[in-house]
Amino acid sequence: MERLIAKNVVLGAGAVGCATAHHLARRGEPVALVERFGLGHARGSSHGAARIIRHSYADPVCARLMPDAFRAWAELEADAGRSFFVRTGGVSFEPPGVGYVAKVAANLAELNVPHRVMSGAEWNAVQPAFNLPDDYAVVFEPDAGALAAARAIEAEIELARRGPDTRILTETPVLRVDLDGERPTLVSDDLTIEAERLILAAGPWIGRLIPELAATHRPTRQQVLYFRPANPGPFQPGRFPTFIHMGPTPGEAFYGMPEFLAPGVKVARHFGSETDPDEPAAVGEEYVALVRDFLRGRLPTLADAEVVARETCLYTVAPDERFLVDAHPARPDVFLASPCSGHGFKFSILVGRVLADMATGIDIDPRFDAWKRIP
Ligand SMILES: Cc1cc2nc3c(=O)[nH]c(=O)nc-3n(C[C@H](O)[C@H](O)[C@H](O)COP(=O)(O)OP(=O)(O)OC[C@H]3O[C@@H](n4cnc5c(N)ncnc54)[C@H](O)[C@@H]3O)c2cc1C
Repeated sequence: MERLIAKNVVLGAGAVGCATAHHLARRGEPVALVERFGLGHARGSSHGAARIIRHSYADPVCARLMPDAFRAWAELEADAGRSFFVRTGGVSFEPPGVGYVAKVAANLAELNVPHRVMSGAEWNAVQPAFNLPDDYAVVFEPDAGALAAARAIEAEIELARRGPDTRILTETPVLRVDLDGERPTLVSDDLTIEAERLILAAGPWIGRLIPELAATHRPTRQQVLYFRPANPGPFQPGRFPTFIHMGPTPGEAFYGMPEFLAPGVKVARHFGSETDPDEPAAVGEEYVALVRDFLRGRLPTLADAEVVARETCLYTVAPDERFLVDAHPARPDVFLASPCSGHGFKFSILVGRVLADMATGIDIDPRFDAWKRIP
């Protein structure tokens, strides 16, 4: 059994682990990043070309952290010398009575983020690709957009490699985490890795490594479709915004984005059943029919468009779609990160910075206490 001793060990090379490795390396810290699959694999939560980024949150805690998140992405762009954010505008809409749009608008007003509240009829008049019922409530945020997710993660890895002592161990499945010894230790088939500080960013597998989290951090299966309409012109960035439809029940939440770094317009339901993250998955025809049905009522020119790509992905859903970014309750040298709940990518660069701060003993801004462990 080979034995490795490292100062900072990050488990998981998804969005969160790569951002953390980058931030540790950026401040001159040695870092070992451990991943069971290859870099950029499609089995977790972070693959796919793009993710939505927006201040438009109904939850004021998330909304208030968004200016920091936008700034953290701009810092990554400065470090990498290229851009990952594209401003497309973002619209959220709902049938009467849901109450999401009013909360989003109130948070945008509090943050002084430009936005406009409209009816469905007013929105259709400015965005003819949509056909919302007249009485829908709509809020549009022109500064929302999309992040080139895969490219950003590649850049984080590239920047992490420029650190003074960075090791990236791929195809290294960790079988268990031993927290009983002097140092926290990762155990794989033929290797043990002892850490001075261990950061666990295992995404949907966090409950396997830290069983106390299994009941509250549940992996769910998500399915994503890419539609290619006969005339793709109106669905390009700059003409078509990212969108979120909030329905009266959780199963009626849908989102999408313009054709950006992918062969079509991305549309998905923000909902999925609990799953074993190791189970193979595919997008079924029933799901395609369900999404077409949603589109028929709100974006009719996409409803019968060809589906040119399909993806499956995993969310790790915590109660109230919260995040967990905190020290392990029994070990101050172990840090747990599960910032997913289906909306964590936009925060991942900020979470990486906070985790690097926690690991290196820098005081954390109390605003990030909201991410601490659910009691
Ligand atoms: C379809 C979809 C759409 C989304 N859209 C948005 C969006 O528009 N905006 C937004 O902000 N967020 C969005 N999200 C959420 C966002 O993508 C996630 O919050 C984020 O990717 C989570 O990253 P992670 O690093 O925590 O997890 P992961 O990417 O799953 O990374 C965890 C890593 O740990 C590795 N690992 C786990 N266990 C072990 C082990 N035992 N040994 C070694 N390695 C291990 C895994 O292989 C994996 O690479 C979306 C998610 C999905 C699935």
